[in-house]
Amino acid sequence: FEIKNSMTTQYKITFSFSVMIFLLALGGGTAIFNAVKLANLTEDMYKHPFVVSSTVRDINIKLLTMHRDMKDVVLSANERELHDAIEAVNATESQILSDLDGISVQFLGDTAMIRAASQAILEWRPIREEVIILMLAGNQTEAVLINKGKGADQVLHINDATQALIHFANIQAAAFHDEAEMNKRTTLFLLSVLLFFSILTAVVICFYVVRMFTKVNLELMSYKHLIDQNILVKTVNSEGKTTEISSALCRYTGYLKEEVIRQKNNFFLAEDNQALATRIWRSIQTGHAWEGEYALRRADGEDKWVNAVIEPILGADYHPVAYRSIVRDISDRKKIETLTITDKLTSLYNRQYFEVAIKQQASLARRNKKYLTLAILDMDYFKKYNEKYGHEAGDLVLVKVAVFLKRILKRPSDYVFRMGGEEFGLLMTGMNEQESFNFLETIRVGVEALNIAHELSYIGDYATVSIGFRVYAGADIPADEQIFIQADKALHSAKEQRNTVKGSIRKEGSDAGIESVNTEIPTRSM
Ligand code: GH3
Ligand code: MG
Ligand code: MG
Repeated sequence: FEIKNSMTTQYKITFSFSVMIFLLALGGGTAIFNAVKLANLTEDMYKHPFVVSSTVRDINIKLLTMHRDMKDVVLSANERELHDAIEAVNATESQILSDLDGISVQFLGDTAMIRAASQAILEWRPIREEVIILMLAGNQTEAVLINKGKGADQVLHINDATQALIHFANIQAAAFHDEAEMNKRTTLFLLSVLLFFSILTAVVICFYVVRMFTKVNLELMSYKHLIDQNILVKTVNSEGKTTEISSALCRYTGYLKEEVIRQKNNFFLAEDNQALATRIWRSIQTGHAWEGEYALRRADGEDKWVNAVIEPILGADYHPVAYRSIVRDISDRKKIETLTITDKLTSLYNRQYFEVAIKQQASLARRNKKYLTLAILDMDYFKKYNEKYGHEAGDLVLVKVAVFLKRILKRPSDYVFRMGGEEFGLLMTGMNEQESFNFLETIRVGVEALNIAHELSYIGDYATVSIGFRVYAGADIPADEQIFIQADKALHSAKEQRNTVKGSIRKEGSDAGIESVNTEIPTRSM
């Protein structure tokens, strides 16, 4: 439905744009066409009626000049004056005739009208000649009479003919003007209509575009809200400072947004876990995503197990510009995992996990060429202890010893297991035979020093342990199950004496299966 709806919107927008472009093109075309037409009309006006009427006005002035010159002719005092006046009349007449010739090309009306004007001028000529002959004959009175009479009448006649030309030109100009006016009105009307529809279309487009963007924006906002409230996500810049954090992650970590933004906190890793932080940064700074599990330290100090995917956000030059981490709570899974590898009574690792850990630690020690020590502890005369103090008291002893062992073995590579019953396993790396022996001695002494009264013990007044151990040097570590068997053998040996530590080292280069040195150091504390 959403897709279909956006398709119709798209179609509507495209259609509206097409209509608008069509209207604009139509409007532009019409405007250009009409402008050209107007320009042509204006040009016509200048070419025809204006030229005709202004030329005719010139002719009229020349006619007046000619008429005045004729007065000069009849009023001339001597022959020279007469001659000059006649010259002037002739010159003006030929100018008028050539002016009439000129406009006959541009005149839009019947050329007969021009011919009539020329004819009227030509008809004036015999009258003028008659006057001139009379003047030459000295008959001035008669000449004046003809000039004022027939001559003046002819001038009026000429004037009528030229006025007809002006009249025609004026009518023509008025027609052009009317046409131009009409043209202007049509153009204005058309352009107004087009403008109106263009604006209307633009408004419709704007409406749809705004509505579409608002809808898309709302959808995005709702997704953003969904992510903000439900996804544990944050973004850090290249300096590791937080630029964005979701509300869900704030709630999960117990921090306020203001406490996290623009701060460095290395993906909420605990202070003592900065080695992992370094590893993560090394990976993501080279443009690779990092995925893994770690304990996230909350604001209140509680640790939460998370699975994190931290990936770089690449910039235009394919270099990381920021990093986004999305974490998923795996505390429940970790709890179950922890439960399956933990002994219920003592909270130590159980036998099951021993099998896993020995494999891991053995291969690590092999790879890193480090010593690996496995020690098995067994309570002395524990059957007797139960007999005397009861099974529950016996359990309590196991818990006490477990707490003690946990307190002593606190390096990250140290492991303490409850192997079953009243037997414990200790797995350590990096200690040679003598160091291992010394360390286990302190444990043996320490257990005795817990001062757990054991009246039925044949070896002392307090509960004690016997410890058997084996130390393997680096590459010489045997198959996993052999490690246990060998340590167990040493325990049997220790049990011959009880409250004792016994072990041996398997030296590099010695024949497989052959025990070399027995580090039996008599330690009996009574
Ligand atoms: P020793 O090791 O010195 O030879 O004598 P022991 O009596 O300790 O003999 P062994 O190790 O063979 O016996 C194990 C006894 O430990 C059997 C059982 O009574 C007791 N035991 C085993 N598991 C538990 C336990 O979970 N709780 C209690 N209270 N006692 C246990
Ligand atoms: Mg036992
Ligand atoms: Mg025992």
